Amino acid sequence: MLITFDTLAIEADSALQAKVKETALAQGINFYYAPGHIQISIDETTSLNDVAQLVALFAGLKGAQSAFKKDEPKHFQIPTALQRESAYLTHSVFHNFHTESKMMRYIKRLENRDLSLTLSMIPLGSCTMKLNAASELLPVSWPEFADIHPFAPFEQVQGYRQIFTELEAYLCEITGFTGCSLQPNSGAQGEYAGLLTIKAYHESRGDNHRNIALIPSSAHGTNPASAVMAGLEVVVVNCDDHGNIDVADLRAKAEQYRDNLSALMVTYPSTHGVFEVHINEICDIIHQNGGKVYMDGANMNAQVGLTSPAAIGADVCHLNLHKTFAIPHGGGGPGVGPICVNDSLKPFLPKHPLVETGGSQGIKAVSAAPWGSASILLISYAYIKMLGKTGVTDATKYAILNANYIKARLSEAYHVLYVGDMGRSAHELIVDLRPFKDFVSAEDVAKRLMDYGFHAPTLSFPVAGTIMIEPTESESKDELDRFCDALLADPPGDR
Ligand SMILES: *Cc1c(COP(=O)(O)O)cnc(C)c1O
Repeated sequence: MLITFDTLAIEADSALQAKVKETALAQGINFYYAPGHIQISIDETTSLNDVAQLVALFAGLKGAQSAFKKDEPKHFQIPTALQRESAYLTHSVFHNFHTESKMMRYIKRLENRDLSLTLSMIPLGSCTMKLNAASELLPVSWPEFADIHPFAPFEQVQGYRQIFTELEAYLCEITGFTGCSLQPNSGAQGEYAGLLTIKAYHESRGDNHRNIALIPSSAHGTNPASAVMAGLEVVVVNCDDHGNIDVADLRAKAEQYRDNLSALMVTYPSTHGVFEVHINEICDIIHQNGGKVYMDGANMNAQVGLTSPAAIGADVCHLNLHKTFAIPHGGGGPGVGPICVNDSLKPFLPKHPLVETGGSQGIKAVSAAPWGSASILLISYAYIKMLGKTGVTDATKYAILNANYIKARLSEAYHVLYVGDMGRSAHELIVDLRPFKDFVSAEDVAKRLMDYGFHAPTLSFPVAGTIMIEPTESESKDELDRFCDALLADPPGDR
């Protein structure tokens, strides 16, 4: 027997494993069965009763009586040399709240200091802070979903499997693609996984040398970071004065690097909040020069039901389920960044060393669990299932309408930095505050909004001296008006 930290490895040939498995399953216990041994992990939730049950199980298989006495404390004493003598938890918060009422008030006081969606709109652009409906969140805490181990035997997780399959199908329909991996835990991890599938595709054709990633200067910082992680070399493509990709520069660079081009990473609608009219041409240029198109899907809230990554000519995209598909985010909570791919990249979707998933020539796993943060997939599943095709499309339309309503109301006092050919924004807009910089900075405006009870918009990203506003479909007209009224009550230009 081998002990590593919290895990015991007990030598057992396959015959013994079969016997243990049969007895354990009958008692509702899963072990991990590896070639030559059985693994058992213990943590702080394991009780002495659990330990007694495990010892009895193994003793019983040997026809022996368990000698384990769980109430004999001397077995469990921490050796004197390891016993702590210094004081701990000395801060007053650990000693001040000894009645439930005091504890309740303390927790409520902390909660009151938080500015969340329960208080006001969070208009952060490039983030999609939309409603996280209680009905979508409820199932996450049900023990039937919450207490399942990622490596639980196949037969025990049929419900989860069904949800994975249906959700993958929905995401494929939404993106227009044919394959999906729910494994990546964030948008950035999706970018990494997607670029690796592109790399594997090139290598499967003997194109091992294709290592150039073209990335527009407007891209989110994760794009070049993921490209470098995936072993690619980044070449930056310029944007024009309107914030659009400079197509001539893109064409020149795609042709210059045509022998080594791996991929373009493009965000649509762009991080400037605009639907690029040349997007199809942009994707064509990349394909003509032997590359694949990775679409950053963080702005899918402006696409769902109206257009799709496949329709614009991309080959792979990630979706931020914690943006477009209603999983709460912010504060470092868990995310999900699945990737969807077309037929050409499907064979390369990530596999997993312990569980069968992914493509026939799949890349290595990009996360520890085969389906990533599986329990919170329930939220996106519920969001799509409850809204249906019409509902998710309406969400997109309202998101775009709300952004353009704000744009129209603010335009009397502010300049919106980038708009499309029709003079419209996508689902978010960048308000330029640089004209006022001599007396009021973008930071001042962000702080002043807090006086009106609003969370600040995204500050100085992707353009310094601006704020980026994304209202989402979740906000009603009166809340949008309250927000516009605040910005118009004392516009910086009036001083
Ligand atoms: C949020 C975002 C990302 C990164 O996604 P994470 O889930 O935060 O890793 C990438 N690109 C764009 C445009 C984004 O807005």
